[in-house]
Amino acid sequence: MYISNLACVACGKKLLPGLNYNCPDCGGILTVEYHYERIDKDKLRRDLERPIESIWQYKALLPIENETNIVSLREGATPLLELGNLGEEYGFESVMVKDETRNPTGSFKDRPTCVGISKAIELGVETVTIASSGNAAAAVAGYSAKAGIKSFVFVPESTPLGKVCQALTYGARIIKVKGNYSNSFKLALEATKKYNWVNLTSTFLNPYTLEGDKTVAYELYYQLNGEVPDYVVVPIGAGPLLHGILKGYRELEALGFIRKTPAMVGVQAERCSPIVQAYESNSQTVKSSEIGSTIASGIADPLIGYEQDGTLTLKAICESKGIAVSVSEEEIADAVHELGSKEGLYAEPTGATCWAGYKKLLKENRITGDDSAVLMLTGHGLKQPLAGSAQDEEIPVVVPNLSALEEQIDL
Ligand SMILES: [Zn+2]
Repeated sequence: MYISNLACVACGKKLLPGLNYNCPDCGGILTVEYHYERIDKDKLRRDLERPIESIWQYKALLPIENETNIVSLREGATPLLELGNLGEEYGFESVMVKDETRNPTGSFKDRPTCVGISKAIELGVETVTIASSGNAAAAVAGYSAKAGIKSFVFVPESTPLGKVCQALTYGARIIKVKGNYSNSFKLALEATKKYNWVNLTSTFLNPYTLEGDKTVAYELYYQLNGEVPDYVVVPIGAGPLLHGILKGYRELEALGFIRKTPAMVGVQAERCSPIVQAYESNSQTVKSSEIGSTIASGIADPLIGYEQDGTLTLKAICESKGIAVSVSEEEIADAVHELGSKEGLYAEPTGATCWAGYKKLLKENRITGDDSAVLMLTGHGLKQPLAGSAQDEEIPVVVPNLSALEEQIDL
């Protein structure tokens, strides 16, 4: 309702809020700005302090001008759960999981996608596209079905079957692209230009999608009674979720609701960690890197052709006094198993990296057990089932009767 313009983060150029992806002058990333001074702060405070219904509770800070264009499946309003059992075991006081698996299509991607699709409708477009490693593909397909518009989804050839099945069920046209995610990204971009679609690729390409990510900060404001956690830990590929959450907190700070922002922690898989590599070498710019295969497919992003996205995320991490950390395949698999067996949380490997990264920083004393933290559990385990390392060999036990059962179970 209060959107004013798009602004380039590199050169500062301002544009009217239309169908733009990158800055026409320098190719920089565009971000959405608002008439903050016109916002009714009393009304916003009431919306921030009442139980959460969906992200549209915060529509004053979202880029849709006419409410009738909103396409919603009741996204957001995800629970904040304390890791009490793991806290006792590892010795920390206040670490919570923001359980994004409860979103309508099973991942946090519903936040950016529903804002992006609503804006596409507002701009009068009837076909959308996305390059996605899986979760965003399912989200775009699901919200397109709800909106009654066509969607074309470009996915890397290695995308897990479960994720493609979900998007297919929603009626999307799926195009598998040879090679890694960057190839899907490039082809979706070329098709967008040729056919005049709206591209909802959830890197930093579409400025409106990022606005959905920031609603996490508003929800945490309510769920933590206005307290700001010391750390927010986020699995990152290009990193729009991390950047978006920090943007949300910065807006709350600028509007006078909070006095500090959290330190942002970005977690990558060791086998694909261009942002962590730049962070560890004290570089201010991120270079793309070829990748090895990782079970954390949702963050397996080499950033080829859009390195500036990684650089913007690195900047957010450093400015917030946060940390970038990478985790091994074994640490990711162990994290899936621990979250499931100790806390009843079923995460896909990508989502579980938030716990793997936090645990590593705790062990290395880079975060203490007294620091409060919120871990972003980004996607549901049913999307990419992984039993976890220790369990693999225990599952296929067949028992014919009660006496055989007694030999197998440990009472
Ligand atoms: Zn620019």
